[in-house]
Amino acid sequence: MPNDKLTIGNVEITSLSDGVLAFDLCNFFPDIAKEDWKGQEDHLSADGGVSFNLACYLIKSDGHTIVVDTGLGPKQSAETPWGELLDDFKTHGMRAEDVDMVVMTHAHRDHIGWNLTTTDGKYAPTFTNAQYYVSARDWEACHDPALIQDRFPNAPECVWPLEDLGVLNLMEDGQQITSEITTLATPGHTPGHMSLMISSQGENGLVLGDVLHNTAQIENIDWVSRADIDPVQTRITRREMMDRLEREGIPVAAVHLAKPGFGKIVRENGRRFWQGL
Ligand SMILES: [Zn+2]
Repeated sequence: MPNDKLTIGNVEITSLSDGVLAFDLCNFFPDIAKEDWKGQEDHLSADGGVSFNLACYLIKSDGHTIVVDTGLGPKQSAETPWGELLDDFKTHGMRAEDVDMVVMTHAHRDHIGWNLTTTDGKYAPTFTNAQYYVSARDWEACHDPALIQDRFPNAPECVWPLEDLGVLNLMEDGQQITSEITTLATPGHTPGHMSLMISSQGENGLVLGDVLHNTAQIENIDWVSRADIDPVQTRITRREMMDRLEREGIPVAAVHLAKPGFGKIVRENGRRFWQGL
C-alpha cells in the first residue's frame, strides 16, 4: 500500500479521495489516434480506458488545515463511484469543520463538488469554518456565458454562491496562502488554473492540479484532452512544468494520477516518466 502521507519540511500532505471517474480513450482523448496508444498500455486501466482518482489533498501548514479541491460531490446513486470524500475524512479521523481553508486548483466540476451543501434551496459551506480560494481568472471564466454550459456546468451551484456567503477569496499568481504555500499560475487547462508550491525547511513540493491527467502525457507532452480549454497554452505550461519538476527533483501531488498521486518526474535512458513515491 503506498503511503497516503507526504511530508515537505514541516508541511504534511494527506491524500484523501472522493472516488474515481473513468472514460473511454476516444471520449477523453478524441485527438489521439488509437494506434498512438500502442506500447502505452501501462498507462491505461484494465479495460483499455482511462481512470482518474479524484484526490483531495489535506494539507497542514503553519497552523492551518487546508483542503485542495473537493471532488465531484455527493453521490447520485449507490452505484456512483464517487461521492466518498466526507467518508474518507472520517476514515482519517478528520471532520469537515477542522478545515479552515479550501483552495481550488481550478473551477472544473470534479474539483468543486463538495464546496457547498444545499438545504431548502439555501447554500451553506460544507467546510463550515473555512475561507474558500479560487483564482480571479477562473472566477471570471466560470461566469462567462460562452463557457458555463460546456466547461463550468456546476459552478453556479458550487462556486458562485461563495461570494454572497462571504467566504470567497480570489487568488493571483505568486500569492502566499500560508507562510509555506504560494500559488503558481499554470494556465491552459482552465484560464486561471493554479498549482501550489510548498516550501518548508529547505524542501519543496508541488500540488500540480490538472497540468497532467495521465502518466502517458509525461513522455507525450503534447497530448491534450477534451478537458483542456486552451490546448496551445496547456502544452506550453505542461512542458515548462515537467522540465522544472525533473530538473529540481520536486515531489509532486497529482490530483488525477493513481492514489495517492505522490511521485517525481524522472529520466532514465533518455525517457522521462512518473516514479511513484
Ligand atoms: Zn480534473
